[in-house]
Amino acid sequence: MESKIEVKSWNPALEKEILRKWESTAEEEDIYKFSIISQKPAFVIDTPPPYPSGRPWHIGAAAHYAQIDMLARTARMLGYNVMFPIGIDRNGLPVEIYTEKKYKVRMRKMDREKFLDLCRTALDDLESEMILIMKSIGLSCNFKGYYRTDSDEFRSLTQSTFIDLWKRGLVYLATRPNNYCPDCGTTIADAEIIYEDIPTKLVYMNFKVKETSDKLIIASTRPELLFACQSVIVNPEDERYIKLHGKHVEIPIFNRDVEIIPHHLAKPEFGSGVVMVCSYGDQNDVQIFRELGLKEIVAINENGITTAAAGPYSNLRLNQARTKIIENLNRHGLLEKEEDIMHRTPLCERSKTPIEIIPLQDYYVKQLEYIPQLKELAEKIKFYPQMHKQILFNWLDSISIDWPVSRRRFYGTEIPIWYCNNCQTPNLPEGTVYKYYRPWKEKPPFEKCIKCGSNEFTGEDRIFDTWMDSSITPLFITKYKKDHKFYSYSYPTKIRPQAKDIIRTWLYYTMLRCFQITGQLAWSNAWIMGYGVDEKGEKMSKSKGNVIDPFPIIHQYGADAFRFWSASEGNLGHDFRCSEHRIASSKNFLSKLWNIGRFLSSFDILLESPGQLFATDKWIIAELSKLIEECKKGYDDFNFFIPSNAIREFTWNLFAAHYIEMVKGRAYNKEDEFGHKSAIFTLHKCMSTILLLLAPICPFITEELWTKIYSVKSIHLQQIPQLPQENYLELSKHTGSITEFNSMVWNKKKETISKETGKPLSLKDPIEIAVPAELEQFKKDLQAMHNLK
Ligand SMILES: [Zn+2]
Ligand SMILES: [Zn+2]
Repeated sequence: MESKIEVKSWNPALEKEILRKWESTAEEEDIYKFSIISQKPAFVIDTPPPYPSGRPWHIGAAAHYAQIDMLARTARMLGYNVMFPIGIDRNGLPVEIYTEKKYKVRMRKMDREKFLDLCRTALDDLESEMILIMKSIGLSCNFKGYYRTDSDEFRSLTQSTFIDLWKRGLVYLATRPNNYCPDCGTTIADAEIIYEDIPTKLVYMNFKVKETSDKLIIASTRPELLFACQSVIVNPEDERYIKLHGKHVEIPIFNRDVEIIPHHLAKPEFGSGVVMVCSYGDQNDVQIFRELGLKEIVAINENGITTAAAGPYSNLRLNQARTKIIENLNRHGLLEKEEDIMHRTPLCERSKTPIEIIPLQDYYVKQLEYIPQLKELAEKIKFYPQMHKQILFNWLDSISIDWPVSRRRFYGTEIPIWYCNNCQTPNLPEGTVYKYYRPWKEKPPFEKCIKCGSNEFTGEDRIFDTWMDSSITPLFITKYKKDHKFYSYSYPTKIRPQAKDIIRTWLYYTMLRCFQITGQLAWSNAWIMGYGVDEKGEKMSKSKGNVIDPFPIIHQYGADAFRFWSASEGNLGHDFRCSEHRIASSKNFLSKLWNIGRFLSSFDILLESPGQLFATDKWIIAELSKLIEECKKGYDDFNFFIPSNAIREFTWNLFAAHYIEMVKGRAYNKEDEFGHKSAIFTLHKCMSTILLLLAPICPFITEELWTKIYSVKSIHLQQIPQLPQENYLELSKHTGSITEFNSMVWNKKKETISKETGKPLSLKDPIEIAVPAELEQFKKDLQAMHNLK
């Protein structure tokens, strides 16, 4: 082994050298390699493919990936054959929006192929930057085989699995009132909607009961949909309106009559308790139209503009129509009052635009009939932490329609359908061939219509919802349909690590799709991390200006400090606060660790026990055993909060502060041969164990110290340490007395003024203090440590 480590302090530049070393190893020597002929049990991680959304990459996201890497490293050190793939998610709307902004173009106003090229170029830039960052934070994933969700290979798997579902009758076309974002110009699924309380006006309007000519006041947040009103409801229990059941009201301005119908969805306490039902103000309207068989009036087109049905208010943006209708009501004395309220409004998750509900023709993948089975399967998934399982169950309970999967966008996987020009029948390719289809620009891979035999076709120009792609990552990484041997070894995968906010989308859709295709769960474990929030506990957002860019921080303090902070900051599943100050203090811990390693590297290496140890040495090994147990608890639960804090506490506050000081004398004194060996052995036992325990969290510093002091072989090929065979646990009962005694002596020296120097005693100065009887067995070490007389 080498002699004393020369580098005086731990610095991030060393990480770059270690990274180069790992990267330059040949594939067969790759310490992070996954092999399907391994004797070890497989541990396949369904890594979330990150979305290259532009800088700054959220510090919370960087922390998320750092922890997924800890998961992989822990599994390796627990004896698994780990597959840790990495892909980049490159499909979907944000790419299009980013590209439009970056190149100042409009998607629908330019050549489709040219637009797609621009998207690809924009993505390539973002992606290469992202990969650099992922490498620099020490991810041990398979960069050599990284994939892209917009590659022909990935998209062809999306298409081929869709064709399989089609053949089994799990896909259908339907015209339904659907969530629609006028800004994004596309249908969106329930899962892509967020709800926010937004200030709006509740408008009270005068209607007239036709049969009695009585005034009837109706309050609505959507007066602009007045012309699409097809009924008015009152709660059946609401005594004020019982006499109106079955009568009619005249719609103001539009002078049309609709029936007053008792329905439980009318809330007596909201507005006047009378509710107008329009196509479509919200999901309640959709339900009432369906239940009562009302005739739909298409109020808004796909650009968010009122249709001809609006009469004099047609061809207007919704807010324009609203203003005009309210003005007109007012002019005719039909406006009773306006009230400011906060209204829970459904918004498009991407563009934050209020969504509209309009009838559109879309493809649907059946999901409702799978819910009972998915609930049973969900019971079988182990969630880390358990508490987040409820998010999945709540979502499963709330799903009310099948999954609309067609999108009127460009940058995504094309729906592989050609329509017969003669009979309009959709024709699909055979799903067995591993080929990527682009029907909007390619000829179909077949000659004749399956129904009428005609040979003229028009290709579908819509694409899939991006969750159709991302929901099959477990199939893609295990080479489904490509390599049967590989697939049968690695699927179902072991674990899905992901963020809390995409349980109802990514986690749910993956469960659904993989179950539909394979009849099995995609994974048996789900590991769910919380959000990174700012120092005050608030969500970071560009608009608040509190987003922290992780790169300068990683550059300054190093990846290990960043990783250690991420692990030690919050319990698994909880939100964690991001602050530079806390990352800096993690760096201090690593410096301490480096100093200890450097100090120990100046002694001989003794890894075999020299026999019966000194009491002080047995005592620290007892404490070390407790540390191992604590860390194992955390590692078994993939909760890095537990080991990181336990390791810091032990290393800094017990091992360095007390034990090393107590045995320094024996470590230096080679004359007392046995005392020396006992101390040296124990020092190295503790240090090597600390390094092994810390390796999944801080892969760089542990690798450097390990290979400098203990072995030429990487620490990442080692196992999480087992408990020492010798059981000294009984001695840990003295820990409190030892640390208290030491502190007492240190304080005494500080308080005592030396007669010679006139200053407080230094730590080396002799002092007259008796060692208490309880600590008799540690007496010699304590006397030497404090120079006691
Ligand atoms: Zn939108
Ligand atoms: Zn045909």
